Amino acid sequence: MTKKILVLPGDGIGPEIINEAVKVLKVVDSKFDLALELDEALLGGAAVDATGVPMPEETLTKAKAADAVLLGAVGGPKWDKIETANRPERGLLGIRSNLKLFANLRPAILYPQLADASSLKPEIVSGLDILIVRELTGGIYFGQPRGIRTLENGEREGFNTYVYSESEIRRIAHVAFDLARQRNRKVCSIDKSNVLEVTVLWRDVMEEVAKEYPDVELSHMYVDNAAMQLVRAPKQFDVLVTGNMFGDILSDEAAMLTGSIGMLPSASLDINGKGMYEPCHGSAPDIAGQGIANPLATILSAAMMLRYTFKEGEAADAIEQAVSKVLDQQLRTADIWSEGMQKVSTSAMGDAVIAALQAS
Ligand code: NAD
Repeated sequence: MTKKILVLPGDGIGPEIINEAVKVLKVVDSKFDLALELDEALLGGAAVDATGVPMPEETLTKAKAADAVLLGAVGGPKWDKIETANRPERGLLGIRSNLKLFANLRPAILYPQLADASSLKPEIVSGLDILIVRELTGGIYFGQPRGIRTLENGEREGFNTYVYSESEIRRIAHVAFDLARQRNRKVCSIDKSNVLEVTVLWRDVMEEVAKEYPDVELSHMYVDNAAMQLVRAPKQFDVLVTGNMFGDILSDEAAMLTGSIGMLPSASLDINGKGMYEPCHGSAPDIAGQGIANPLATILSAAMMLRYTFKEGEAADAIEQAVSKVLDQQLRTADIWSEGMQKVSTSAMGDAVIAALQAS
C-alpha cells in the first residue's frame, strides 16, 4: 500500500533542508521498497505570498488526505508586520489543530561525536537519548475560562484554567507507554501533584494505565525536581510524559542539553498514529538562502516518520545510522563545526547521508 506524505517546505531555510530530507527519503524508498508517494503544498509565509492566507484550503485538504506530513519551518521578518490572523505561524497552528495532533514527541539525543557542543560536561550528556512526550492540545494553554478582568476595586486580574479530563490523560499515557516499549521500558511522569489537583488526577490515571503495561516501569517526579534532574543527570531518563505547559518548558531545556538545535527532530501524532514531523528549530532567516543550514534535524524527522507512522523501523534505523556515520567522518555544517572538522554545505551534508545509506 502506498504511504502518502505531504511535504510542506515553508519559509527561510525550510525549502533547503526539506530538499535534503526528500533526497534521503527517495533513497530509502527504493532501498527498502517503501512505496512512498510524495506531494507538496504551501504553508506559512510562502502561502501568504501566493494565496493571501497562511494555510490555504488546498493545503489542509492534502494534509488530511496524507498519512503523514513533513514540514520544514515557517515564518520570517518579511511577514512579521501583517495582522496576527494571517501570520505564517497561524498556518502551523491551524494544521496542528485541524489534524488533532495531541501528542508531541521530542527526542533529545546527543550523538557522542557532538558531546562538546553541549554546555554540560561531556560525561553527563554523551550518548544521551531521552524522549519527551508532551500533551499538546489541552491543559492550561487551552483551559476555559481565561482572560483578564477588572475587579470591583478597579484592579486588573489575569486568570487561566488548568484542566485535564481523564480521557485526555489516558490517551497521552498510552502514547508514552507504547513508546517506552520500543525503547528502554521506563516512563517518568512529571507533575506537580503536591500543589495542583489537576495533576493529582494526572498521577492517578498514569498509575491506572501503567497496570496495562506490567513490562514498563513507571515513576513520578515533581516538575521542579525534573528541571533539576535534567541538567544534573539526564541519562537517568528514558521516556518523560507530561502536560502541555510543563512539556513546553522541559522539552526546550532537554533540547539545549544537546547544544545543537540543528540536530533535533520532532513529531506530533493524532490518535491513529498519523503525524506531522518537523525539526525543532525555526526558519532561521539569518542564514536562509546561503546553503549552510544543517539539514540533519529534518532528515531525522523523516526517520521518525518512518518509525512512528509507517512502522518501518529498519529504514528509520538506516537513516539514523547514516547520520551517525557522517558525524564519524567528521563532516559538520557550520552550526556544529569545531576546529579540525570538515565544514560542509547543506546539500553536501544531505549527499553524505545518502552515500552512507547506500554504502550500508
Ligand atoms: P530559529 O530556530 O529559526 O533560529 C535560532 C538560531 O538557530 C538562529 O541563529 C539560526 O540561524 C539557528 N538555526 C536554526 N536552525 C538551524 C539549522 N538547521 N542550521 C543551522 N542553524 C540553525 O529561531 P528564531 O530565530 O527565533 O525564529 C526565526 C523564525 O522562525 C521566526 O519567524 C519564528 O516565528 C519561526 N519559527 C518557526 C518554527 C516552526 O516553523 N516550527 C519554530 C520556531 C520559530
